[in-house]
Amino acid sequence: MKPERTPMSRRPKPPPKPKTAERIIERDPVEVYCRIRPPENLNQEECVTAVDSRTVKLTPPLSSFAFRNGHAKEHQYKFRHVFNSDSSQKDVFDYVAKPLVSDVLRGKNGLLFAYGVTGSGKTHTMQGSPQDGGIVPRTLDVVFNSINEYQTKRRIFKPDGMNGFDAQCESDAFNERRRIDATPLNPRTPKTPRYRRDTSGSQDSSQRIPDTSRIECIDEDNVFSIFVAYIEIYNNYIYDLLEDLSDAGPSGRLQTKILREDAQHNMYVHGCTEVEVKNPDDALEVLYKGQRRRKIAYTRLNCESSRSHSIFTIRVVQAPLDAQGEEVVTDKSSIMVSQLSLVDLAGSERNNRTKAVGDRIKEAGNINNSLMTLRTCIEVLRENQMMGSSKKVPYRDSKVTHYFKNYFDGEGKVKMVVCVNPKADDYDETLPVMKFAELASEVQVQRSVQPARQDPGLLPGRRRANQLFKEVRRRLEEEGENVKNLEVDLTPIYTLAPAWPAVSYTAETRDDVIMKLKAYLQKRIHNREKLQTELKGKILTMHTNVVEMEKENLIMKKEIMSLRSLYDDAMTKVRTLESMLLNAESVNESLQRKFTDYNNLVDECNAVREERDLAKSHGHLEKQRMKARLKSKLEIEKEKLKNDMQTKLCEQKSKMYHSQVRALQEIFLDDNQTPKNIRVPSTSDSDLHQSRQGPHSSIKGSTSDPKLNISQAFLTPDLRGPAVSNQRHRRSRSQGADMWLDHRPGQGDILPTAGGGSQVVLQDVEILKQRDPLAVPVSKRSSDGTPKVDATTVQERCAGGIMGYGTPSHYVPSKRTKL
Ligand code: ADP
Ligand code: MG
Repeated sequence: MKPERTPMSRRPKPPPKPKTAERIIERDPVEVYCRIRPPENLNQEECVTAVDSRTVKLTPPLSSFAFRNGHAKEHQYKFRHVFNSDSSQKDVFDYVAKPLVSDVLRGKNGLLFAYGVTGSGKTHTMQGSPQDGGIVPRTLDVVFNSINEYQTKRRIFKPDGMNGFDAQCESDAFNERRRIDATPLNPRTPKTPRYRRDTSGSQDSSQRIPDTSRIECIDEDNVFSIFVAYIEIYNNYIYDLLEDLSDAGPSGRLQTKILREDAQHNMYVHGCTEVEVKNPDDALEVLYKGQRRRKIAYTRLNCESSRSHSIFTIRVVQAPLDAQGEEVVTDKSSIMVSQLSLVDLAGSERNNRTKAVGDRIKEAGNINNSLMTLRTCIEVLRENQMMGSSKKVPYRDSKVTHYFKNYFDGEGKVKMVVCVNPKADDYDETLPVMKFAELASEVQVQRSVQPARQDPGLLPGRRRANQLFKEVRRRLEEEGENVKNLEVDLTPIYTLAPAWPAVSYTAETRDDVIMKLKAYLQKRIHNREKLQTELKGKILTMHTNVVEMEKENLIMKKEIMSLRSLYDDAMTKVRTLESMLLNAESVNESLQRKFTDYNNLVDECNAVREERDLAKSHGHLEKQRMKARLKSKLEIEKEKLKNDMQTKLCEQKSKMYHSQVRALQEIFLDDNQTPKNIRVPSTSDSDLHQSRQGPHSSIKGSTSDPKLNISQAFLTPDLRGPAVSNQRHRRSRSQGADMWLDHRPGQGDILPTAGGGSQVVLQDVEILKQRDPLAVPVSKRSSDGTPKVDATTVQERCAGGIMGYGTPSHYVPSKRTKL
């Protein structure tokens, strides 16, 4: 089906060329975008489809009023861009609103409408949800992201109540802030809200996902402040949604506001609250507060919010920093104010569809009236532009059009997002929306120009220069430098004159304009001459300075030369020292090596010595053992030899005894007299036998005869006959002494020897006691060191005595010892 061309899409004749003065004015069309919302359900019959990124097709459904009236043709409408149901909030913002944010930060105004039937997505597009914000929250995010470091403190700028702003210096602003903070409740001054969670349920800021993008190329030498206002136009009445409730009167209803024109012929809502906000959350809190007010008002009035137009306005106030880049210039003419109005229009449906009754009919009528007025204004504008006519645009017929009149007169860019619900039921309402959209897109509005501001003639980049200077100052202070007199002049070297004045003129104003231009040029020429004189002076000073510097330069060069030679000397020394160091290092290395070798040698020697010690101790042990063996062998041999000797001695003695006996017998025999008192012992004789057992045993020391020679006594025959017959108790007379020596025999065994003799083995010893009568008695334990006589010594002595050796007189056997 071939789409029917709408009458509006027909291009009329081009408008006649404007007059000379107007020819230089550039114009831009109203930018109209279309956004198609997603279907409400899958089975939904649709009447709107996006043909391409710029075209939308409308197909009348069978149920539509138009179809039933024979208008069954499709319609296609062109837009600047079409956002289909897949488009995201970010897409819409970036494409539609972001350029407006850029404009407003550069001092240009902007207006953005959301237009469409109820439920088509106007509020969704403007506000969105916390997780996926619409145009309003994203605009706020980007504005604050862009000007963050250039924001002023609160109260530097203040609304003057006539759509303008005043600026005050930092100290005044500080005092005012303090005064306001000290006042707990000021009904006339709305306090800038602090961030707090919205508890009434309109939106929850805590879950918000902010837009992180920003606009570059902001004038860094300006300071910025953001103000927001939120108004509503309902039944052709204007309400301030941020108004303090104490102004609402006893009914609790908000007061209606009136529109006024300021000195620059801009329309504004008189007495409207403008709140200074410092971050997006502050601003959104203000928005939510307005929405809560709106909700309460509608509950009281029993009506819907979709029947009113809500306008959220962001105003950017900026002013340049002073020459030092420190404080704001408070001159009012330096302040630049721009605004971006974001408008959520009421639903554009007709009365019969909404079935309004009573008050609602009036209400709907007003809505439609204001939208109709908007449409009429657009039509007249278009006609004037295209036909070259000069019909009066009926802006004043409704508050909405009256309020935005300036935009259509060229005070800013106008954009419109037409929201469309594609469902078939909405076709009859969507059709006029599309027609209006097409109409609006053909209207051209004067391109907004950067407001002419007097050139303050200040050095660009002074903010950064000031920051750098402060940083340098701080660092120098940290290093202990005196920075009191350290100043940097950031004022410009020269400025010729303020910016050129506007050059538009008509035949009537021509002379005036020429006179103005002449004065302007004369001023410039005067300035130029003055500057040239200054320049000459400065060149002269500069020349002198250069000559001075040249002299200093020469001195410095000489100093550098001498320093260089010093440096060269020092370098030579360094090199020598370096080579010495290298040598020392190599010597050190070789010594180190030697030391290591020596250590290794010492270790080896130690190991060898340890081995040797081990072997030595082993040999010593062997030697010890051998010695012990030999000793024991020697002992045995000695014992054996001793026994042999004793045996031989006994034999010898026995032989001698027998020979003596025989000799005595012979003597007696010679005298023929048989000896009576001499008893010749025989080997069987028990006495003899007893004597053989050992002379020691038979000797008992006499106390009466210390000089007794035992052997002599024993061996001397008693010529006077035997003294005693008792064998156990014998006496003998010492030689040369007149006393008897008692003999008490010891106990022992007589054993036959190998040589045929006998040996005496003592079992018991009799101890002889012999005392020197002249000698001092010796105590057993002598304290004067006289050696104590032990039994072994006595025994040996006794044995010696028996064997015929003399007993030393000093021996004092003390007791009988059992062997
Ligand atoms: P209007 O303000 O035009 O009356 P709303 O913005 O209130 O319409 O939208 C009505 C409903 O449709 C809301 O629940 C909204 O979430 C939903 N809606 C509208 N447009 C879209 C969209 N583009 N994507 C998702 N949901 C949407
Ligand atoms: Mg809405």
